[in-house]
Amino acid sequence: MSAPTLTAAAPSGTPEHSAALEERIARDPGAFRILTGDRPTGPLHLGHYFGTLANRVRLQDAGVELFVVIADYQVLTDRDVADRLPEHVLGLLADYLAAGVDPGRATVFVHSAVPALNQLLLPFLSLVTDGELRRNPTVKDEIAHSRQASVSGLMLTYPVHQAADILFCKANLVPVGRDQLPHQEVARTVARRFNERHAPVFPVPDALLSRAPKLLGTDGGKMSKSRGNALALSATEDETARLLRRAKTDAERHIAYDPDRRPEVSNLVLLAALCQGRDPHEVAAEIGDGGAAALKRAVTESVNEFLRPVRERRATYLADPAGLRRVLAEGNARANAVAERTLAEVRDAMGMLYR
Ligand code: ATP
Ligand code: MG
Repeated sequence: MSAPTLTAAAPSGTPEHSAALEERIARDPGAFRILTGDRPTGPLHLGHYFGTLANRVRLQDAGVELFVVIADYQVLTDRDVADRLPEHVLGLLADYLAAGVDPGRATVFVHSAVPALNQLLLPFLSLVTDGELRRNPTVKDEIAHSRQASVSGLMLTYPVHQAADILFCKANLVPVGRDQLPHQEVARTVARRFNERHAPVFPVPDALLSRAPKLLGTDGGKMSKSRGNALALSATEDETARLLRRAKTDAERHIAYDPDRRPEVSNLVLLAALCQGRDPHEVAAEIGDGGAAALKRAVTESVNEFLRPVRERRATYLADPAGLRRVLAEGNARANAVAERTLAEVRDAMGMLYR
């Protein structure tokens, strides 16, 4: 498939741009191909769900082709050793399927199982400068939270690896959380520069943000698998209640939706609203002067109710690890075939097909 490059007026990653993109997708879903993914560092959480996973499933169901990478090499960006990878990979896949990713239509694959993909890295690395890599704000933030004493080459260059993940299948649409926008810019830059320097091989991919591009965790920072502040899709109802009881709020009794002034309270209101499919202002008005305790009770109930069917499906998928491994094997085979084709085009464009 040769995906068209989009040229919407607003810059990629802005709410206006995402709205314009949504209109184009609704008109012609078959013109889009999604690549997005996650690191197998732990179970998916509500930030993933409302930041990107719900969009993946919705667009898949609307007829957009979906590729999902389980980014296992990327686990090593901020730690020396990747722990419990087999368990995390199957858990991630169970999360996807439980959320509605359809393995009959979508291609879910593991980065390390697609070697041709990694060959794109060398030419792509030649297209970015070390200054561009060092200025990346998300990489800087991740270095600040990293468990490592020094910054590895992998940490600095992983946005370029992500560009390869996206471009190997010529994806033109990337539903992500806000933290990914700087990386998304790297992918766009790499695509443009490759096309200019060698031959027009790649679409320039667009980021698509959801209504919750940065869901906060219980400590008020970005909800993250590796920061101990996340509400996992797979948590039990009791765990969810316990985690939410200690969620950061503020001292004001009246509950309002005001993300700029009251980020933590507004984040909880938003979470309840997303789970209930309602407007956050309406949810806040309902709680009114009930204070943080009433807010937390409402969020706990909404989250648990919303996730009940997802949790049931997840447990069913996890009970059949052989079935999960089959899904991955099929996804890996499909991704390998696509990667081989793109690599041949790239080598041809660079004069490296020695026939
Ligand atoms: P880790 O702590 O291991 O980095 P993470 O929770 O940050 O894990 P990633 O695997 O890095 O998750 O991110 C996968 C995808 O989920 C990305 O598209 C990212 O933007 C999105 N995402 C992650 N956390 C959030 C969040 N809190 N709100 C919205 N989107 C999010
Ligand atoms: Mg992350």
